[in-house]
Amino acid sequence: MSGPAHTHEVVVIGGGPAGATAARQLARQGVDVLVLDKATHPRFRIGESFLPRTSKQLEALGLGSKLEQIEYMPKLGVEFVFGHGGEPPKDFWFRDAFGGAKQPTFNIERAPFDRMLLRAAGESGATVREGASVRRINRLEDGDVEVEVDGESLRAKYLIDASGQATVVGRHLGLRRVLPDLRKIAYYAHYRGVQRRDGEEAGSPTIVMCREGWFWIIPIDRERTSIGLVMSQEDARAAGRPAGEMLRWGIARCPVMRQRCQDCEPTDVAGIAADYSYRCRPYAGPGYFLVGDAATFVDPVFSTGVCLGMMAAEHAAKCTVALLRERADAKKTRREYIRFVESSSTMLFRIVRGFYKHSFREVLMQAQGPFSVHGALIALLAGDVFPRPALALQWRVRLFEFFVRFHERFPFVPRRANFSLLESD
Ligand SMILES: Cc1cc2nc3c(=O)[nH]c(=O)nc-3n(C[C@H](O)[C@H](O)[C@H](O)COP(=O)(O)OP(=O)(O)OC[C@H]3O[C@@H](n4cnc5c(N)ncnc54)[C@H](O)[C@@H]3O)c2cc1C
Repeated sequence: MSGPAHTHEVVVIGGGPAGATAARQLARQGVDVLVLDKATHPRFRIGESFLPRTSKQLEALGLGSKLEQIEYMPKLGVEFVFGHGGEPPKDFWFRDAFGGAKQPTFNIERAPFDRMLLRAAGESGATVREGASVRRINRLEDGDVEVEVDGESLRAKYLIDASGQATVVGRHLGLRRVLPDLRKIAYYAHYRGVQRRDGEEAGSPTIVMCREGWFWIIPIDRERTSIGLVMSQEDARAAGRPAGEMLRWGIARCPVMRQRCQDCEPTDVAGIAADYSYRCRPYAGPGYFLVGDAATFVDPVFSTGVCLGMMAAEHAAKCTVALLRERADAKKTRREYIRFVESSSTMLFRIVRGFYKHSFREVLMQAQGPFSVHGALIALLAGDVFPRPALALQWRVRLFEFFVRFHERFPFVPRRANFSLLESD
């Protein structure tokens, strides 16, 4: 192995939304930052639906005009419906959020979006190397880190791991813990010709609920729609189909999906994501910060991944600048970063877990309740969680959870038929 060829102040592993955001923010503050991405952009990613908070962040990052150069579908809300189709769907609008209307956001094909962010990092002064895979971490200490990239050693003072589900630092330090109750598997594909809704509903993603999990229908541009089926791994095994057939099998068995997909044709995009709920704690340690999926990933039902990743990345950049330029106390800075990630994500993760209970869905589909509890859920799911959800949101969500538990014993909203893919004809 040759000696260190280059020394930078910060190395960022991964040039996805989290890595690109961290790099852009560091470069804008004059930090010498190197981004290493094993892929060459544009590269495919699933996860095309965003939150209002991300739209706001993109404007603050000065990326609003660049976004306008990519085709996207405006998203003003989300539609939920039970898979049997026996009850009308419910639309939840960001304008009805507790505390005031949230701005619209969008769905977008990830490859051009992610490339736009990475280019923006480069334009801000970050050095970007694509096709550069970090193979090993040799050293990880405050002020001194070293990674190996395709036979070359690179040194820096700090490392930001934004390697997504590869969780390079998490695996190196043995931090990755799968969340056993969220062991799911997702089968997805892009289609043309999926039935669209009219007017301002045209860009709303649809969540189609079934006992085994849920489908997403996300219009990503005028023609293409991203569709996915998320199920527990046990149910997927019980279906007994080859992985490549699971999505088609699910669509064919679900009345709502069957109807919306009656004239659709697959494109060449299709894939599977498994085992994707985990945490790598602590999210910061000597020499490193973990951002985006490299830190944690929890079930995508509420489209929170990119929002959490980009916001954490901005915060990690701020912390790194404090360490490099302001001689901030390393332990205190790390604690503060860890608190930011924990407190912004914990409430969202609780809601994700709740969503897998039918009783939660029944109360959700009521779409109104005392003390604006539904409006509070909408605010959280618009991304109103940074640096932590306001108390007014926290107690309303807890009250919503109480309503769900109460409803399990003493039903106070109509019971709704559950729909099972495995039991359907
Ligand atoms: C089924 C599914 C549906 C989803 N739906 C949504 C959604 O609707 N909305 C949403 O916001 N999120 C969604 N997500 C999550 C979202 O896609 C991720 O949270 C998001 O991509 C995380 O961004 P990131 O920058 O952390 O990681 P990534 O986007 O994964 O980027 C990581 C980068 O690191 C690079 N890399 C990896 N290993 C190395 C290495 N060793 N060396 C150098 N580079 C490396 C990769 O090439 C990649 O470019 C979904 C996820 C799944 C699985």
